[in-house]
Amino acid sequence: MNRFWSSITQKIEPYVPGEQPRDMQYIKLNTNENPYSPSPRAMEAMHAAINAELRRYPAPGADDFRQAVAQVRGVDPACVFAGNGSDEVLAMAFMAFFDPGAPLLYPDLSYSFYPVYAKLFGLESARIAVDGDLRIRPEDYARPCGGIVFPNPNAPTSCALGTAQIEDILRAHPDVVVLVDEAYAAFGARSVVPLIGAYDNLVVVTTLSKSHGLAGLRAAYAIAQPHLIEALERIKNSFNSYTMDRIAIAGATAAMLDVAYTQETCQKVMRTRAAFSQRLRDLGFTMPDSRANFVLATHGEAPASRLFADLRARGVLVRYFDAPRLDNALRISIGTDGEMARVADILAQLV
Ligand code: PMP
Repeated sequence: MNRFWSSITQKIEPYVPGEQPRDMQYIKLNTNENPYSPSPRAMEAMHAAINAELRRYPAPGADDFRQAVAQVRGVDPACVFAGNGSDEVLAMAFMAFFDPGAPLLYPDLSYSFYPVYAKLFGLESARIAVDGDLRIRPEDYARPCGGIVFPNPNAPTSCALGTAQIEDILRAHPDVVVLVDEAYAAFGARSVVPLIGAYDNLVVVTTLSKSHGLAGLRAAYAIAQPHLIEALERIKNSFNSYTMDRIAIAGATAAMLDVAYTQETCQKVMRTRAAFSQRLRDLGFTMPDSRANFVLATHGEAPASRLFADLRARGVLVRYFDAPRLDNALRISIGTDGEMARVADILAQLV
């Protein structure tokens, strides 16, 4: 408590990001980063963007990036909103679409930034429990609400909904915005971007942090019908007109257009995930069938809190959530084949 803090500052419980340690070299599997470097074309474009033009403000609409997103995702540029990472795009979407008075619904096991934003923006919210297999059940969302948000695939469960199930949710709630956070969709879920023409209440948020290996750049976008994009623009231009800088626009544009590179690296991650999951199952772990670049693994006998500490002591960082329903699971991001083989070897000694 501090007498200079506003009441909201005093009340807020900030999100705690996974650690980014500098003390030693870890096999770092705690924040769902991509083990592969960004597209070489993106890096070239960013080098080229370091020039005298930096004295000028960037394009406020990040037009080149929006054009590239529109081209690659097969939508009109008027259906694209660009932002400085999807945390920011999500925050703006919360402001643009949700009001106090009716609860915002999200899964009980989900991205822990949603409750933080709900509180920051003074929204009521209700957590809808995922089922015993950690899956979202669309029918559980059939209740009055002010909006819905969930990741697909969900994090940290790694489970994905199919398009028909998401359509059930969209159809049940024609008068509120349904925000689908596709941060991990490139690793094996079906995107609902093709549905935006049919649903005027659908907003899809996507980031380049995971699929394009650009967590350090901060680039993301939302896709929706133009009337929803306009709402996001209104909020952005009431907060910060220049969210993406010139270097980020150049890098994100080139990364977006290098479709072959993105596909190849995401597929490599998916192949590694299959092999690693099998090794963990052989060691007695159980986990949902992952559609993301991480797995959520539980061992029948070895408690997750101990495994987390023992892995850390051996130079492997994974994510452990000391939270109801999650406190016996480890969220392990998928790294390179070599890293995952090493982690599986260590786990074999630990269990
Ligand atoms: N959504 C989900 C579900 C996430 O796990 C993350 C990563 N922590 C984000 C959004 C935010 O990603 P970024 O801000 O890097 O785009």
